[in-house]
Amino acid sequence: SSNGTSSGDKTLSVGTEATFAPFEFMKKGKVEGFDVDLLNAVAKEAGYKVDIKNTGWDAMLAGVKDESIDVGMAGVTINDKRKKSYDFSLPYFESINMIVVGKDSTVTNAKDLEGKKIGVQNGTTGQISSEKLFGENNKNILKYETSAMAFMALENGDVDAVVTDNAVANEYVKKNPGKKVKTIDDKTNFSSEYYGILLPKGSELKSKFDKALNKVLDNGTYTEIYKKWFGV
Ligand code: GLN
Repeated sequence: SSNGTSSGDKTLSVGTEATFAPFEFMKKGKVEGFDVDLLNAVAKEAGYKVDIKNTGWDAMLAGVKDESIDVGMAGVTINDKRKKSYDFSLPYFESINMIVVGKDSTVTNAKDLEGKKIGVQNGTTGQISSEKLFGENNKNILKYETSAMAFMALENGDVDAVVTDNAVANEYVKKNPGKKVKTIDDKTNFSSEYYGILLPKGSELKSKFDKALNKVLDNGTYTEIYKKWFGV
């Protein structure tokens, strides 16, 4: 469905994983968030409409790969491994992994997680960076289908910590003051990553989206959307 030739008002099918606030989350049955606003602006600029569905992470990746979905938008980090199977737009957001632990935890950096149970979202950079530190088949790294489920595991005491993207970690802690959790950052053991819009390999959308994204960055739209979701 991604091989329409005229841009016109073609509607692009978009997959996402909507438990990733503030980038994408469900509200009254609809997907909302920073990514939703940004993708709407970019697609509009490029002459497309979008139909965003909460497919989940794995189905989004599979769908964009086999082109049954035109676009994936879910705070997807651009990395070399993914670039073998996908194209990405230009980077649109800088992120870094962050640790979430209980308020009373003595953990002060990622190395302190040695021997502790770490919850990650399966197939994400949280898993990759945890495995880089503690080994690929480490039994203490517990993989969940969504980051929301990893946070639930922390609340239940099934894990001692969650490793996820900093903005998502911060949002979770801010929105859950009753849950007695805190964030720990570690710019030594984690490194910067950049989100891109996920596209099928060789997609004609790549150049159109890059041009549109640059426009949205230049004309103040990006700043407006950023302010709406991050307040600065
Ligand atoms: N940015 C992380 C990654 O791409 C997490 C994305 C997500 O969970 N939606 O792996």
